[in-house]
Amino acid sequence: MKRTSGGNRRSFLASLGGSMAALWPGKLLAWGGQEASGSSMNASSSRAGNIYDELGVNTIINGWGTITVIGGSLIPPEVVDAMDAASRHFVSIPELLETTGDRIAKLLKDLPPDHTTTVTSGAAGAIQCGVSGVLTGENPEFISRLPDLAGMKSEVIIQKSHHETYEYTQQILASGVKLIDVEYPDDVRRAANNRTALLYFVNYLNPAGRIKVDEWTKLSMELRLPCFNDCAADTPPLSHLTDYNKMGYDLVAFSGGKAIRGPQCAGLLIGRKDLVRAARLNSAPFTPSLGRGMKVGKEEIVGMWKAVEVYLSQDSKALTDEWWKRLEYISKQLRSVQGVSTAFYIPEIANHVPHMRIEWDPRKFSLTTDAAFNFLKSGKPSVLLQKQDDGVSLSMNSFMLRPGQERIIAARLKQMFQTHSA
Ligand SMILES: *Cc1c(COP(=O)(O)O)cnc(C)c1O
Repeated sequence: MKRTSGGNRRSFLASLGGSMAALWPGKLLAWGGQEASGSSMNASSSRAGNIYDELGVNTIINGWGTITVIGGSLIPPEVVDAMDAASRHFVSIPELLETTGDRIAKLLKDLPPDHTTTVTSGAAGAIQCGVSGVLTGENPEFISRLPDLAGMKSEVIIQKSHHETYEYTQQILASGVKLIDVEYPDDVRRAANNRTALLYFVNYLNPAGRIKVDEWTKLSMELRLPCFNDCAADTPPLSHLTDYNKMGYDLVAFSGGKAIRGPQCAGLLIGRKDLVRAARLNSAPFTPSLGRGMKVGKEEIVGMWKAVEVYLSQDSKALTDEWWKRLEYISKQLRSVQGVSTAFYIPEIANHVPHMRIEWDPRKFSLTTDAAFNFLKSGKPSVLLQKQDDGVSLSMNSFMLRPGQERIIAARLKQMFQTHSA
């Protein structure tokens, strides 16, 4: 068994795009979706039923990852309980946002002392209200005027290599700013002027840029401009929740509904207290504001706080071992199939968890990547893995599987290879 690091982010994204398109068209073919019988991530019997059966919506066995379009992640029972408890009382939402934000900052322990957090409507919401806040500060007049930037700064600097493939530029542009592309450090120095509001960085694209993550923050200090890092899917490791703030980033965004396993519609903005306050004022419940549509309810706010607490207290090593064990089980089951091989890897950045590539000899199987993806998707239950763009492999991870689902995946893969031998 080969364990290499450095999964191919590009092919991951390519497969994401392709599969995403496959997910949208109206009625999907036979998305059968019984859960693994007898296996349950949530032990409580009141949650054992499948509400989606009542709706006639098929559920999915997720070997793909924390993908928004299939539901992000599954919320641990302690967090669901906290959300349930939060639903029973009225509270002041501004007070709750501020208090939970500070409590989360305390949980993170080694944040810089002038930093705090706020719960947002996902990382995308954190980006939009974070950028807005940098422009408006706490000025209610400015906040009510966005995206009209009269009297405010109007430019955000980004590396061309980040801008090109990044899917969240609209959350930046919503505030009315222009994106200014740069490639080299001197481009940043030339581009910076009195209209510049922010230097923007996309963490998972660090390898693609000429200016690396630590040099970007040094430039921000040199030019006395704030800098932002989108780290949406960049835990584990847990240390990333504070690493970039300590490195000098003024604002950092994380998804709540990915590896942190909070509510899917929640996220975190972590950064300088003044900028976090300003970001908050640029989102719900505050009116009038551009971000009023990005509401997070008391249940999600409390859920996000509890999710961080649970996430930080878990045994990362035991979890990672379990994730490896699931992949190794599937690999072992496939070993008896002639012409199929598996290889293990961990993407260096973003979704930094055990992955496995499943590759087959095209002379032995009449099967393309697309056909394999669709075979697994359209079965009962529906299994989703990641497409690879070499045409003769799939890849998968195991951190979003419910216990026991690795057995179903292994059986379905074996069945697939048996019925497609050339
Ligand atoms: C998922 C993701 C987002 C959006 O996060 P949400 O929490 O779904 O809003 C933004 N940036 C990157 C890099 C992501 O992976």
